[in-house]
Amino acid sequence: MSISSKLSVCPYCKEEIAPGAVLCKHCGSPLKMIKKKKSAPFWRSQYMLGIYTGIIFMVLMIYLYNRIF
Ligand SMILES: [Zn+2]
Repeated sequence: MSISSKLSVCPYCKEEIAPGAVLCKHCGSPLKMIKKKKSAPFWRSQYMLGIYTGIIFMVLMIYLYNRIF
């Protein structure tokens, strides 16, 4: 079992730290800034949902238009 590839590097002291570490064990600096943002995927899903809703609405309008005339 090798964990060498999963190690991160502290941006403050450049020492190897565990990926899930909140504080650097070498210099004690907070490492919250390294965590990945979760807001981007949420924004993208909302954006895609809007596109799908628009497509469905357009298809529905075309369908109704063809039925009426
Ligand atoms: Zn450090």
